Amino acid sequence: MGKLLVAARLALCACLILGLLAAGIWGGEQAVSAISDRVPIKRARTIIVDAGHGGEDGGATSCTGRLESGYNLEIALRLEDMLHFLGCKTLMVRRTDTAIYKKGETIAQKKVDDLKNRVRLVNETEGGVLVSIHQNYFSQSQYSGAQVFYGAADGSKLLADAVQAALVSTLNPGSHRKTKAARGIYLMEKSRKQAILVECGFLSNPEEERHLASPDYQKALAAVIGAAVCANPG
Ligand SMILES: [Zn+2]
Repeated sequence: MGKLLVAARLALCACLILGLLAAGIWGGEQAVSAISDRVPIKRARTIIVDAGHGGEDGGATSCTGRLESGYNLEIALRLEDMLHFLGCKTLMVRRTDTAIYKKGETIAQKKVDDLKNRVRLVNETEGGVLVSIHQNYFSQSQYSGAQVFYGAADGSKLLADAVQAALVSTLNPGSHRKTKAARGIYLMEKSRKQAILVECGFLSNPEEERHLASPDYQKALAAVIGAAVCANPG
């Protein structure tokens, strides 16, 4: 993806600079005072990074047989690094290939408990903003591109629109994908905090899966999503 990657990187740099300017992190001579002025606002927010699925719940299976849960975790860990770099406080739902259930005999019962625990974590985190990372899958292979879904709480659509626009203008040029309300997704419907779910791309598309598996593309996703989330006032 030579030229595409170079173009994406250039666009990404522009996006990051805009994001940093909007976040008040990069202000030339004013940088120090801009940071100190804005630190209290940043500290009030905790970005809860949720790597979707995990453990026995692998999520979708890609066209090469890899599980969605692994991609979600790799990108979520890179997003955590990027958010720290940008000065945002984070809370990781999981850091390993495990679900977070505490009880349940069957896989279905464990999944229910896992989702309830994720909801509890989000709703009990003061100043929490949920960013849930997932990958898409469709029965036909031609579909591609990231899509951002939003929860019901105030500010969720605004944040989703910002992240979607950043992804389209950098990594998915020409994409017509728009944000959507996350109906029927338990974690998103039960979240009382600002919440978005990012479907980073389609595991059913061989070319897109190659990108999603690449460390460079994962870093680019983390940078674009992280900059847009940090720049958003919440
Ligand atoms: Zn998923």
